Amino acid sequence: MMVKRKLREPLEDRKGTLFFDGFSVKELAEKYDTPLYVVSEKRIRDNYNRLHDALIRNYKYIRVYYAAKANSNLTVLKILKSEGAYLDTVSPGEVFMGLTSGYTPDRMLFTGTSVRNDELKFLADANVAVNVDSQSELDRLLKIAVPPVLSVRINPEIGAGHHTHCITAGPDSKFGLMEEDALKAYATAKKARVERFGIHMHIGSGILDVEPYVLAVEKLLSIAKRVHDEVGIEFEFIDIGGGFGVPYKPEDQEFDLAAFASKVVGPFKGKVTEYGLGKPFLCVEPGRYLVCDASILLTTVNTVKVTPSKKFVGVDAGFNTLVRPTMYGSYHPVIVANKLGAADKETCDVVGPICESGDALAKDRALPLVAEGDLLAVLNVGAYGFSMSSQYNARPRAAEVMIRQGKPMLVRKREQLDDLMSSQRMAE
Ligand SMILES: *Cc1c(COP(=O)(O)O)cnc(C)c1O
Repeated sequence: MMVKRKLREPLEDRKGTLFFDGFSVKELAEKYDTPLYVVSEKRIRDNYNRLHDALIRNYKYIRVYYAAKANSNLTVLKILKSEGAYLDTVSPGEVFMGLTSGYTPDRMLFTGTSVRNDELKFLADANVAVNVDSQSELDRLLKIAVPPVLSVRINPEIGAGHHTHCITAGPDSKFGLMEEDALKAYATAKKARVERFGIHMHIGSGILDVEPYVLAVEKLLSIAKRVHDEVGIEFEFIDIGGGFGVPYKPEDQEFDLAAFASKVVGPFKGKVTEYGLGKPFLCVEPGRYLVCDASILLTTVNTVKVTPSKKFVGVDAGFNTLVRPTMYGSYHPVIVANKLGAADKETCDVVGPICESGDALAKDRALPLVAEGDLLAVLNVGAYGFSMSSQYNARPRAAEVMIRQGKPMLVRKREQLDDLMSSQRMAE
């Protein structure tokens, strides 16, 4: 019996074979080999516009800062820049890549944590706005230079996220300053004659629910009001961070943009007026939301092994290529790209080539009968996929192909064996 799988854009079932943004993934795998990341330019643009439009309908002054760490491929950065995105950076390397892909310094915000003095010097020289994460960072920065724009990362004491590693606010978080400390930091900055200000929070990642934002934004604005009234600071922007989730599991719902607009953006506008905060930009910093579902990972089945307790499907991508399942226990949909019409027949672990037992892309997953040579597609890998990949086990990193202007284009070549040794020096 042929089954019809429910596929979301840009995935399509054409006669049992998976197509991605109009191209046969089988042909892409043949041409570029596996493991292979395939990215859809169109989907990135659609995601950006859907989010931007939902926000701007409710408040006129919106800035979308793309969080580069989700996927820092230069072509991805460029595409988002062409849509009007700003850039959220967390390291000098990301600032460097942002500059390289055409973002001017005034379109970037640096939100680091545990930042070195030479890094602060780099940011000051680059003229990038700094969002400080501690009084220590602020004091050290002001000894080096007075930044053009300064913002303080607030811990609004409300966090959320798909995994404890990804909750970035609340009582146990290393990030941000608590209310009283933030007031002191702004006073320090004002005394040092910083002229332009923002205020920031980022509460976590992979948040599907609007409620944590409602509470955290209320808290952030109440702190902004105190800073405004007690320290005398006008805010150019109020940045409420990223974290907007995407559905990974079949039962997950889409992030409800309409609810976000009505329950967060609407009240934001009201409170900003009520508190006399002027007309600051409302900034958001989505990473995952913009790029996650715009990419799939193609991987070939090497071995099929049956043990008394399990069936293992061994593929050529492991946690060196996609670490999220191992690192966070994350769920990624896996489909047999050349057998879309075949019904699920058995439960398998999809495992990689890394010599560690934690190396699994999927566990106890219902799949059709899988054979050696089959092509699997792991979905929703555009965020924290390639960017977290490594050369562990001395495996060169995968290639990235983008479907761009109606054709596939290699946007990162596959690493070769030489790349494993490029920065090593052989001892005499
Ligand atoms: C990682 C990060 C983001 C983006 O998080 P997503 O969950 O990918 O949207 C935004 N802001 C800061 C400061 C970050 O560190």
